[in-house]
Amino acid sequence: MDRQQEFVLRTIEERDIRFVRLWFTDVLGTLKSVAIAPAELEGAFAEGIGFDGSSIEGFVRVYESDMLAQPDPGTFQVLPWRGDTGGTARMFCDISTPDGSRSMADPRNVLQRALAKAADMGFTFYTHPEIEFYLLKPGWVPGTAPEPIDTSGYFDHTPHGSSADFRRAAITMLETMGISVEFSHHEAGPGQNEIDLRYADALSTADNVMTFRTVVKEVALEQGIYASFMPKVFAQHPGSGMHTHMSLFEGDTNAFHEPGAPYQLSKVGRQFIAGLLHHGAETAAVTNQWVNSYKRLWGGGEAPAHLTWGHNNRSALVRVPMYKPDKGQSTRVEVRSIDTACNPYLTYAVLLAAGLKGIEEGYELPQETEDDVWSLTDSERRAMGIRPLPASLSEAIEIMEDSELVAETLGEHVFDFFLRNKRAEWLDYRNQVTAFELERYLPSL
Ligand code: GLN
Ligand code: MG
Ligand code: MG
Ligand code: MG
Repeated sequence: MDRQQEFVLRTIEERDIRFVRLWFTDVLGTLKSVAIAPAELEGAFAEGIGFDGSSIEGFVRVYESDMLAQPDPGTFQVLPWRGDTGGTARMFCDISTPDGSRSMADPRNVLQRALAKAADMGFTFYTHPEIEFYLLKPGWVPGTAPEPIDTSGYFDHTPHGSSADFRRAAITMLETMGISVEFSHHEAGPGQNEIDLRYADALSTADNVMTFRTVVKEVALEQGIYASFMPKVFAQHPGSGMHTHMSLFEGDTNAFHEPGAPYQLSKVGRQFIAGLLHHGAETAAVTNQWVNSYKRLWGGGEAPAHLTWGHNNRSALVRVPMYKPDKGQSTRVEVRSIDTACNPYLTYAVLLAAGLKGIEEGYELPQETEDDVWSLTDSERRAMGIRPLPASLSEAIEIMEDSELVAETLGEHVFDFFLRNKRAEWLDYRNQVTAFELERYLPSL
């Protein structure tokens, strides 16, 4: 047993932990959990805990359903909402098959493979997500409009605002669990909030995003409200994005930083952005995986719809934030398409792969767009070589089907499952006759 594993066993004893939850994530980004008694833990570290993978989305075919979950002791945390005595702790797991090899269906494994590739090229990948979500009154009834808990807007400070109380409780809980929060504020939509996590290596960030969603849902329940990460809840208000700031480090040096260069952006940084743009259409189905995701991505609300970049352009897919010259270490690029309901492991894996491809192939960075891309006409955009993001899940799937980069990064199993699942989702959606159609066509056709 290694020192981290010993630390976990000792802490469980000292803090009287009764349940250890083993967490992992399915292909669509849903958190899965199995509780074991502390006595089972030594075995779990050594051999993993067996479970039936056939009922987990995207895991295995039925005839090879035995899987093993092996807890990662570095992710051990006590769950604060479970109380102090006789409490519950959790660890994220790596999933393997009975022959001991890593499961090709485990999203954590997909990201770990992409990170290993970056490491081969000498890079560590850091990410910093800005997570937006809506707080709603509970008890929504299908067929009615959801009700936000307040009517505040961007950066509003409301005395005794319930959003502010919520953010304080959620952030306290996140910090208790070792997740540092950098900023938080009310967002533009009524009831919409944002909490930004401090930057960390991408695997920790993806784990933290999974924890974040759980914490936010738990705190909302405690406060008698409902939190939603749905990409676009209200047609007339902005959707919820998960902008992520990204950088590559070589040892202690930020590889995106070059003093004196435009925006202090190094060649590596420029090529990384070029890769994100070049592969932006084929990675969209992963970064924006639901039918609803594309309702956010087309209509402004500071969400991107085109494959562009800029330094002060909030309708661009990639933005390069500007910092004081002495802040070289914080040079980074912000990807703005990602939504809060993505699978963070798969999302960071495909975006990293796209950026690395740009570096490997030495892609040329296209001209930045300073204009708000929205104010241009279609033909002006075409003349400038500005390509759109896919307009629907259906388009995104079709483009992804032909992507070698995404197939290679996700691995054949996840790639096939994902496409099959998403085609089925699109068919379900297409089967609907919507209220829009009845209202628009029935009176006149
Ligand atoms: N809510 C916007 C989005 O969907 C972002 C708003 C902002 O943070 N500037 O991406
Ligand atoms: Mg922000
Ligand atoms: Mg925001
Ligand atoms: Mg942002």
